[in-house]
Amino acid sequence: MYLSKSRYCSAVQCPKILWMHKNMPDQYDDSVMDMVRLTAGNQVGDLAMGYFGDFIEIPYLDNKAEMLRETKRLLDKKTPVICEATFSYNGLFCMVDILRVYEDYVEIVEAKSSTSDDEEDSDDIKEIFLHDMAFQYYVLTGCGLNVRSVSLLSLNRKYERFGELDIQQLFKLTDCTEAVLNMQDAIPERLDNIENVVMAETEPDILVGSHCDSPYECGYKGWCWRDVPENSVFDIGWHMWGSKKDAAYKAGIITFADVLNSDIGLSDKQRRQVETVVYNQPPSIDRPAIEAFLSKLRYPIYHLDFETYQQLIPLWDGVRPYRQIPFQYSLHIEHEDGTLEHKEFLGKAGEDPRRLITERLCEDIPIGAFSLAYNMTFEKKRLEHLAELYPDLAEHLLDIAENMYDLCGPFKNGDYYCKAMGRGYSIKYVLPALFPNDPDMDYNKLEIVKHGRDAMNAFATLHEKPPEEVEQIRKALLAYCKLDTLAMVKILGKLQEQFRNE
Ligand code: SF4
Repeated sequence: MYLSKSRYCSAVQCPKILWMHKNMPDQYDDSVMDMVRLTAGNQVGDLAMGYFGDFIEIPYLDNKAEMLRETKRLLDKKTPVICEATFSYNGLFCMVDILRVYEDYVEIVEAKSSTSDDEEDSDDIKEIFLHDMAFQYYVLTGCGLNVRSVSLLSLNRKYERFGELDIQQLFKLTDCTEAVLNMQDAIPERLDNIENVVMAETEPDILVGSHCDSPYECGYKGWCWRDVPENSVFDIGWHMWGSKKDAAYKAGIITFADVLNSDIGLSDKQRRQVETVVYNQPPSIDRPAIEAFLSKLRYPIYHLDFETYQQLIPLWDGVRPYRQIPFQYSLHIEHEDGTLEHKEFLGKAGEDPRRLITERLCEDIPIGAFSLAYNMTFEKKRLEHLAELYPDLAEHLLDIAENMYDLCGPFKNGDYYCKAMGRGYSIKYVLPALFPNDPDMDYNKLEIVKHGRDAMNAFATLHEKPPEEVEQIRKALLAYCKLDTLAMVKILGKLQEQFRNE
């Protein structure tokens, strides 16, 4: 089997992935792949090809020899820009996204839809991308080419579209040559190691660890993690580093009881999580802190939750790559006598939802209203972005943000903790912990859309679906978002009830 750059990158994450591909491919869980995001990434790659002007693309063929021949022909002709230029060296194989060809040297350009995670504001370059580029440099120099530079062409998160899409502004070029050169010496040894692991007759003895989720979630976790017990060191939350967990696991510190019997340093919150399980402790409640939180409440309470999605290539004015675009909200209005009203908005497939959602929100939440969100930084940021976009409604939107409080606060601060919350304070941990046997509070009982990622992908692809399916998906989106705010009402009620019962 030849080693392509994508296989090489998989092996950088964990060489056992290649052994599993070869020997136990049926154990692969392909639900780890986000096809919607992959398709969007491919569209970015296609657009990036035009960044340097005219280009010739080597078509993908099963016959790799033909791709290699065509690349050589174009190189010999000094074709200035070759896309998917194909090279092979010592059993290694790579296609360069964009190769710039000069008289006596070439430049490698790797196109990626992102530099790092898909967050709005993150700009660090993922280490795996550097490995990807280092592999290409290794192969091309092995083939005798004089590679002068290696760069990453990625989406520029600061570009805001107005009018025609400006490709030069949409992308940004980052020189990674130095980092790539620094990786060269380690490649031969890594290749030997990969070969040894892949050729092993028996399953490689590679421990599970944080590398199983980073940089990508591995599809073989179902197999490799089968003997890791519930409440293992990997389940410790509250910001414990992955490397610390890996080291503990390697040292045989596996269960929570092991952790308590070891000298691993734990923060107060981590210790509480572990001790609550080992000693089966009751919920811990900081009464004065919760009292202080509840004393801020003003009725009616507007429980608000947005659903958003991202466009990698901005389609509309005022959109930046990766900016979260709100397309839906759910609003439960809770009155002091306990009555509830529900309002909601869901944009139409393929249409820009921003102006309509903004107007409806301003109709539904009056100025001065007391609102709650769960992890309000997210909701506030959406409101601020909409305020920038629509100055005529900015005052109203900023007023909503100003009067917003965070229901997540008591859980995030550790004022309320119970065993079932486990490692975190997100609503997906807190809700089942507080309502373990309530089927109406169970996201898994929902149809089609059960997670935020499902909602994003469902809306992003809604315009491609036939009408009967669109209706079904819209219903699922509405049900999902409605549960988010109903959950908030219930969680607040539980806090109040606990407080009363203390
Ligand atoms: S689950 Fe972890 S150990 Fe198993 S192949 Fe994947 S990355 Fe390697």
